[in-house]
Amino acid sequence: MNRITTNNFKQFFAVHISGLLMLFILTFSSTVTAQDDGNLVNDLLKTANILNETLLEITALSDEEENAIGEELDKQISQDLRFTRERKFNIKKIFKNLLQYVERTRINYNYKIIRTDEVNAYAIAGGSMYINTGILDFLDDEDEIAFVIAHEISHNEKRHCIKRVQYAVLASSFDPSFGEIVQVAYGMYSMPFSKYDEFEADENGVMLMLKAGYKKSGAVSFFEKLEKLEKEYGADQRDALNDFISSHPTARERRDRVINLY
Ligand SMILES: [Zn+2]
Repeated sequence: MNRITTNNFKQFFAVHISGLLMLFILTFSSTVTAQDDGNLVNDLLKTANILNETLLEITALSDEEENAIGEELDKQISQDLRFTRERKFNIKKIFKNLLQYVERTRINYNYKIIRTDEVNAYAIAGGSMYINTGILDFLDDEDEIAFVIAHEISHNEKRHCIKRVQYAVLASSFDPSFGEIVQVAYGMYSMPFSKYDEFEADENGVMLMLKAGYKKSGAVSFFEKLEKLEKEYGADQRDALNDFISSHPTARERRDRVINLY
């Protein structure tokens, strides 16, 4: 695949119409009184979200295109990483167990263990996942690591990784080549997900781990450990490339939500 084409008219519509709508909402919301027009602003925001979702569907990449982008991106990311084997947990088995229940069966889900002390794991478009030895050392039981892996798989099950690339491509004024899309993806893979994407990945992750026979208590104890670690790290030490240590949502918020799931 040398070139991914996008329809210029749809692209124009995507950028300009949704941009105008957002501008209108921002202008309007700053001039109305909060109590009587809050609902209207909420309705408009909902409309903007639906419009965005529709545009992403129109310009959606196929699973094959996403896999190809992911493969190239993985090559670039991997140049700076040191890989290792894992002995503490049987990651291969846990990964295989969870993969039996994914919905996006054509995505090339795979993982690599990275030798670094940082307590983190992250996923990229196309299904590759990077698990740091730091997070493996930090965890004690299989249900905890099963949740971490299920959460990362869920960022791709819910298309969070590829959607960010799509947004960036939509916002560009040219029809990008495959190489240019990979560069966009490379520039974005380490950026944090939104709070709502994190909640969605937590929720889907818990569902996935339960289907594969793991216990939800692993997700709860993971967030409890993380809460302690957040305090140790402090706000200024939180790495941008960290899917778990972040100011929003906090480990406490995520733990509380997970407790109430299912
Ligand atoms: Zn996440």
